[in-house]
Amino acid sequence: MKRLIFIFLFLPSCCLAGSLPQSALVPGGIAKIAVGNASQPAPKVFYQGRRILVTSDHSSWLAIVGIPLDAKPGPQKINIEHPEGTSLVNFTITHKQYPEQRMRIRRKRLVNEMNAQDLARIKDEKEQVRKIKDVWSDRPADVSFCAPVIGRWSSLFGLRRFLNNQPRGMHRGLDIAAKTDTAVLAPASGFVIGTGDYFFSGQTVFLDHGQGLLTAYMHLNEIAVRLGQTVLQGERLGTVGATGRATGPHLHWNVYLNQEAVDPTLFLPKGFPACHP
Ligand code: ZN
Repeated sequence: MKRLIFIFLFLPSCCLAGSLPQSALVPGGIAKIAVGNASQPAPKVFYQGRRILVTSDHSSWLAIVGIPLDAKPGPQKINIEHPEGTSLVNFTITHKQYPEQRMRIRRKRLVNEMNAQDLARIKDEKEQVRKIKDVWSDRPADVSFCAPVIGRWSSLFGLRRFLNNQPRGMHRGLDIAAKTDTAVLAPASGFVIGTGDYFFSGQTVFLDHGQGLLTAYMHLNEIAVRLGQTVLQGERLGTVGATGRATGPHLHWNVYLNQEAVDPTLFLPKGFPACHP
């Protein structure tokens, strides 16, 4: 029965105008590009060799392209495969300067004093996550999101981080601060494609919402779902915690499109409505 409800929920989700992510033609943003008339079969779209999510707004098929955080400003192109042939569409990425963030992590083992065992674990986990991010499922994507936790946005997406004054990568998710054990709810329907306790991200859940739209929930205190499980929007994934490398209880939330981390706030409708159980 649950499966039936799930299928029913997935079908219309491709075509709900107004619930589509916002476009932002910057590194870490999203390009939303019309790629054909919705009365025709959906085309296949590729960007940098990777398959791209295609959804519809009633009248047009739209490609929803994740722009890499390290993309250089300038012209880019997507390839479109129609039954009658292939075509190209160009778009232009503009510069965005993300602010710096400086943090102190007291447990030095989490910054630069890892032992050989830690380093082997980190390497292994990186490979596991790479495989998870490679997941592609053909069904219509559920792009209609609500906010998984309500709380203060304590670190925005894209911050250029310095941990104990050492430059680190950019912040590839959104941090939402909330009390330990606050419920974390699924922002859209999907499948659980990964769960685990990772060195940096602590207790983590990965969801597949279809066509390369993936989300991740990190530093959880508890995980409430199993690998392979179907979840509906608003279903409990776990609770907020501070496991892994965290300075306090918060949810670190990632959204991936075509394996690229994009700004999760672009997926939240105006007013950032909370998910309801
Ligand atoms: Zn974070």
